[in-house]
Amino acid sequence: MADQCIFCKIASGEIPVELVAQNEFAVAFRDIEPKAPVHLLIVPRTHIAGFHEIDRLDAATVTGMLDLINQAAREAGLADSGYRVITNVGPDAGQTVFHLHWHLLGGTRLSEFA
Ligand code: 5GP
Ligand code: ZN
Repeated sequence: MADQCIFCKIASGEIPVELVAQNEFAVAFRDIEPKAPVHLLIVPRTHIAGFHEIDRLDAATVTGMLDLINQAAREAGLADSGYRVITNVGPDAGQTVFHLHWHLLGGTRLSEFA
């Protein structure tokens, strides 16, 4: 756990949020500023700064984290309507939290770059 990292604190339970799904490797919760009717964040319990550090995660964590994205999408009712999964890396993508997280967006017809 990285000191002062908000997503480490959420994943560990130090900052309480309503988890919509979780497993051994990751947690899923609602984005505080939703950009779509469904906007969840899927966050590995292990701290890495972003996707560019993915090779620091072991294979079980990567698989478990990706499984949780799938589970959260199904449980949010998005399996048939579809959804988008994105992760921002660095300034041009607008990354603001430097703990890897996946945005799961759906519940409407998404615009090209939403
Ligand atoms: P990024 O811009 O790094 O790709 O995404 C960070 C996301 O985290 C943003 O969509 C922002 O709204 C969300 N976020 C930042 N702080 C919090 C928080 O304390 N709680 C929740 N639920 N979402 C947060
Ligand atoms: Zn962290």
